[in-house]
Amino acid sequence: MKTIGVLTSGGDAPGMNAAIRAVVRTAHSVGWKVIAIRHGYKGLIEGNYKTVDTSDVSNIIQRGGTVLKSARCEEFRSPEGRAKAAKVIKDAGIDALITIGGDGTFQGAALLGKEHDISVIGIPATIDNDLVGSDETIGYDTALNTAVDAIDKIRDTADAHDRMFLVEVMGRDAGFIALETGISGGAELILLPESLTKMKEVKGSLNKVLESQRRSSLVVVAEGDETGGALKLADKLRGDFKQYDIRVCILGHVQRGGSPTARDRVLASRLGHAAIRVLEEGHSQVMVGIVNNDIKITPLKMTFGKKKDINFGLVDLAKTLR
Ligand code: ATP
Repeated sequence: MKTIGVLTSGGDAPGMNAAIRAVVRTAHSVGWKVIAIRHGYKGLIEGNYKTVDTSDVSNIIQRGGTVLKSARCEEFRSPEGRAKAAKVIKDAGIDALITIGGDGTFQGAALLGKEHDISVIGIPATIDNDLVGSDETIGYDTALNTAVDAIDKIRDTADAHDRMFLVEVMGRDAGFIALETGISGGAELILLPESLTKMKEVKGSLNKVLESQRRSSLVVVAEGDETGGALKLADKLRGDFKQYDIRVCILGHVQRGGSPTARDRVLASRLGHAAIRVLEEGHSQVMVGIVNNDIKITPLKMTFGKKKDINFGLVDLAKTLR
């Protein structure tokens, strides 16, 4: 019998609860014990944990956020902080740690594993979808659908008043949410951190929209686009588009919340299950992901410091359809 520790860390993402549930239930199905750690690495260092049973994860699959809470933890970035965490892991009798989070979480997990010979498995959960080793990360689909829902509502009011709306979506380094939200919402323009935004081209595209007699327009801006985001972009456009009432809407944290979509629940269930299965097979220091609909493992150290490419075919599609 093994004892597994599980925690959620970094930015919360809808579907984390479904992953926790799958870890707990799959571990119990093979007779393993699970210790749930609250508040991510912070709680780990503080020894904030308890043993959980299958009934402790009842009625959480549909809930957003994370029942284990998440945290950012500066102390864990230092070798001393990780040594404290390793001591807690050894004292609690934890044989392997499953971390549910993003690339920062995995970077910390990889260091903990290497420095203290601790078996760690990563489950990718971040609304940004920017992790290599999985086609999608837990939380992305929900965040995307939340953003699309908001865009549809904004389009209605933009149309009613002949307005130009600049809608900022999350994505400091990655444009996945912006790109698919823009395509789904029929945006006239999509601005991404992955492609250089030239103001001349932005203005040219918006002028074409005006010439096509469309009275409203919608621009989706990733927060990490080099224009500096929707507010700064609005300042740069106002002088040239006086005929438009330019409005800005920053979707912000609504994109993190809410009940996970069916797709995120299934993804999280599969990945939580896979994390236990790969431990059974003797793997460690890996992230479980899904590539082309199959479970795939990627060494943890390959998952951070690398950028997952957006699909530039979709960028071209968006340009053709606008
Ligand atoms: P998201 O992508 O949603 O922001 P994340 O896992 O990347 O999620 P971070 O805040 O970057 O979120 O990382 C979570 C925690 O992992 C940090 O608070 C810190 O404790 C730990 N961590 C991050 N980077 C490192 C690092 N380089 N070394 C050690 N620990 C780290």
